[in-house]
Amino acid sequence: MSRDKAGKGLMADSVVVLGAGMVGVSVALHLRRRGCDVVLVDRQGPGEGASFGNGGLIQREAVYPHAFPRSFSELLRIARNNAVDVSYHPLALPSYASPLLRYWWHSEPARYAQVVLAWSALIRTCLDEHLALARDTEAMALLRPIGFMRLFRDPAALEAAAAAAEIGKREHDVNFSILDSKALAAAEPHLLVERAGALHWTDPLSVSDPHALTLAYFRRFLEAGGSFMTGDATTLASAGSGWKIQAQDGPVEAARAVVALGAWAPKVTQPLGYAPPIFGKRGYHYHYGMQGNAVLNRPIIDTDAGFALMPMRAGVRLTTGAEFAGTDAAATPIQLDRAEPVARKLLPLADRVEDKPWLGVRPCMPDMLPVIGPLPKHASVWCAFGHGHQGLTLGPTTGRLVAEMMTGEKPFVDPAPYRPERF
Ligand SMILES: Cc1cc2nc3c(=O)[nH]c(=O)nc-3n(C[C@H](O)[C@H](O)[C@H](O)COP(=O)(O)OP(=O)(O)OC[C@H]3O[C@@H](n4cnc5c(N)ncnc54)[C@H](O)[C@@H]3O)c2cc1C
Repeated sequence: MSRDKAGKGLMADSVVVLGAGMVGVSVALHLRRRGCDVVLVDRQGPGEGASFGNGGLIQREAVYPHAFPRSFSELLRIARNNAVDVSYHPLALPSYASPLLRYWWHSEPARYAQVVLAWSALIRTCLDEHLALARDTEAMALLRPIGFMRLFRDPAALEAAAAAAEIGKREHDVNFSILDSKALAAAEPHLLVERAGALHWTDPLSVSDPHALTLAYFRRFLEAGGSFMTGDATTLASAGSGWKIQAQDGPVEAARAVVALGAWAPKVTQPLGYAPPIFGKRGYHYHYGMQGNAVLNRPIIDTDAGFALMPMRAGVRLTTGAEFAGTDAAATPIQLDRAEPVARKLLPLADRVEDKPWLGVRPCMPDMLPVIGPLPKHASVWCAFGHGHQGLTLGPTTGRLVAEMMTGEKPFVDPAPYRPERF
């Protein structure tokens, strides 16, 4: 890391970015492009956290973040702990009580409307920001402009979803089309069952390999002169006027640090006096082959059962909904076990590709907004975490916003709603 000309102090533009997921890699690339001297640090290889095995959707349609359910029947369904889409470890519930209560509070309709304003301001930039990083690189081949479909069994539920989508179109410019049963069967000829129809979100990009996408942006960072080191972010300590990390190959010093550790962010911010009420929603995947010459043309979500199937490089990826359990607790892929038989009735899936399921953690905040900005008590440590269900979508947007703020440019989105001191 650079020192000033006399070799004494750290260069003011030196930054260590902690966490090389989609968010950290995007922050590092944007900072490097603005001339900062950047070292990216992760305990694993780049993109091997939640950014590895997600659903691969760049979700331009996701202008309404996942709210806490407010209906009693829905809460009762979840409480029974036998659903496909939501599951929990009973012993983990005490640690979730406070953030979930706050999540419920922020999901009250009037408060939620304010959240939507702040959240959608980020979401509406996601396609442009990904394309700005991907253009003229191998990443373009990973971004498929095919959108994704939500399948419905019940015609009334499809009609309600169409009405809600109309509001989204009017308020947030999201595009969609409605497929009846026949049109759905034509679009996905290998579906084994008939459905009432589907809502096709036409804007989203579907990434054929999310890990490869993070690696492609990571390569651009290296080509731009950035560097990567393996190390443990929890070794962060103040060093003179800056910060120091103990990496495997020696210490890394920088004037400023960015915490982009996803669900693990509090491990670094808490010792610095900032304990964000982040909570994990864990999710799993398996890949499957397809029997014979069957194909899945685009990602589909079984709305009634609550899981997703995505055609990916590695096979058809089945991803699950939310599991409430300790961030680092052992995997309990019960939702995959519940989803797989339903998925096999939907599509002619062949064998599982892997022996073991993949597990990732969505870093969620009670007010459904990411945490972006300097720490309240340490202005030289910046936050870039808490993107919940849409961190793949929002990595490049957050990367640009953080880099603009840190280098004194006018931010392209008003950063006020995401400031860390709101907690
Ligand atoms: C099943 C599932 C499906 C999803 N589908 C989608 C989707 O379709 N679209 C979408 O936009 N989002 C989706 N998401 C959410 C998305 O994956 C996350 O929001 C996003 O990956 C978070 O990125 P991140 O960079 O903040 O965190 P991560 O990718 O988790 O990166 C954090 C990094 O910090 C590193 N780290 C942690 N602790 C330390 C330490 N002590 N020292 C050093 N390094 C450390 C980790 O190794 C990791 O690389 C999904 C998530 C899941 C689980």
